[in-house]
Amino acid sequence: MFRSPAAAAAAAFLRLIAPRISGGSDATHRRFPPPVSASSLARFSSTPTSSPSPPPSSVSARDDEAEDGQHQEEPRDSGAKLSITVDRSGLYNPPEHSHEPSSDSELVKHLKSIIKFRSGPISVAEYMEEVLTNPQSGFYINRDVFGPSGDFITSPEVSQMFGEMIGVWAMCLWEQMGQPEKVNLIELGPGRGTLLADLLRGSAKFVNFTKALNINLVECSPTLQKVQYNTLKCEDEPVGDETRTVSKLCGAPVSWHASLEHVPSGLPTIIVAHEFYDALPIHQFQKASRGWCEKMVDLTEDSSFRFVLSPQPTASLLYLSKRCHWTSSEELEKVEHIEVCPKAMEITEEIAERISSDGGGALIIDYGKDGIVSDSLQAIRKHKFVHILDNPGSADLSAYVDFASIRHSAKEVSDDISVHGPMTQSQFLGSLGINFRVEALLQNCTEEQAESLRTGYWQLVGDGEAPFWEGPDDQTPIGMGTRYLAMAIVNKKQGTPVPFE
Ligand code: SAH
Repeated sequence: MFRSPAAAAAAAFLRLIAPRISGGSDATHRRFPPPVSASSLARFSSTPTSSPSPPPSSVSARDDEAEDGQHQEEPRDSGAKLSITVDRSGLYNPPEHSHEPSSDSELVKHLKSIIKFRSGPISVAEYMEEVLTNPQSGFYINRDVFGPSGDFITSPEVSQMFGEMIGVWAMCLWEQMGQPEKVNLIELGPGRGTLLADLLRGSAKFVNFTKALNINLVECSPTLQKVQYNTLKCEDEPVGDETRTVSKLCGAPVSWHASLEHVPSGLPTIIVAHEFYDALPIHQFQKASRGWCEKMVDLTEDSSFRFVLSPQPTASLLYLSKRCHWTSSEELEKVEHIEVCPKAMEITEEIAERISSDGGGALIIDYGKDGIVSDSLQAIRKHKFVHILDNPGSADLSAYVDFASIRHSAKEVSDDISVHGPMTQSQFLGSLGINFRVEALLQNCTEEQAESLRTGYWQLVGDGEAPFWEGPDDQTPIGMGTRYLAMAIVNKKQGTPVPFE
């Protein structure tokens, strides 16, 4: 028996997804650093400080007092009582001018010039934003960073089943929305477009659903926009004097936007954000004898990057204060570091406002915690952890997502929305019926495809090393099922979304 009509709909959708293996994704691709070694596991552990790279967490040099002080610090009892003091010892001393030719990349030169121009350090958030999305030379901007020849791999690249199950979720929500004739399907940060391609292929038989779709991709990278155009088999069609782009996978119009606010509103909306939030810039704060101080990126005298604590109060302390109001004093007492992501709060508010006025819902899947995130920022280049400050722009930077902060940000905006979860990815995909899907696909495939399906299935829902693996030890598939969490934000009119009942 199904627990709800929506769950019954999920089972019905699942039965009708085309029972075939798609040629879309290369089964050897993995989102996390493969082959999986102890070091790569650190990216997903709940204690991310086990990174083999030089410890990125604590500020070195110049702030000895703060470093010592933090161990004697009386834990504060509430974010409302933040104390801020000023340490001018961290002020920037410009190095001697050098006319030697520099081997610095454009991005490194740019970052150094910001620090020099300001005569002072920049926040970790500003550093992260420049490194990832600087319009000229940010990490995501000019290349395809995914896959074995790239830097990391995501769940949609691991298995077609991931996008298909998100499709089941989206179709169920559309049913709960009353099957509207037009729907904005918005994906935030679509990467290669693989998730959406698998979602559309999987839902091809549900013509009323695919006919309703108006696809909107929020993507800052022109290079990845082109990759998405190809993955979705897009073509440009003349409409009067203009052209519109249509995905030949389902006939739906597709458009690209630099940010969510540019997506036209007014239609019922389904939003998907997979591994988008972890790329948003975070501010890092460290407890010191003088109170909470923001961690900043500065230059040494020989012009290399280093962390320092803010020499003066920063505007982002307001966000720390906001975040701390959502936290118990017990939780605050336990942490020496806190990461806060104002951009995540802002985007969540936009999502909640949109869903509140247009109807529909959003699904957010990412690695993270349902509470304060302490010190999780990490850098991955070519599937290996590197130091956060090492050759910026050549490595992915990402941080754990603070799901509690997302929940509070959404709820503050509107009483018309409800927030569900987070639940683990394993529970989410399992309750939607991924085990039935893998069984159906296994009925009709080659031995090689079966191997890759089993491996992909484990990676999506398993926990730890796959017990069935007989291949090389250093390639043992590692499950992401409990490290990744799923959360939904829906308009209350829609009821409770599957599988959060
Ligand atoms: N969802 C995809 C890709 C995740 S990587 C997958 O699961 O495979 C993060 C994606 O978000 C990339 O496409 C990156 O270019 C995009 N992105 C990162 N920051 C962004 C921003 N501020 N605005 C728009 N897109 C962004």
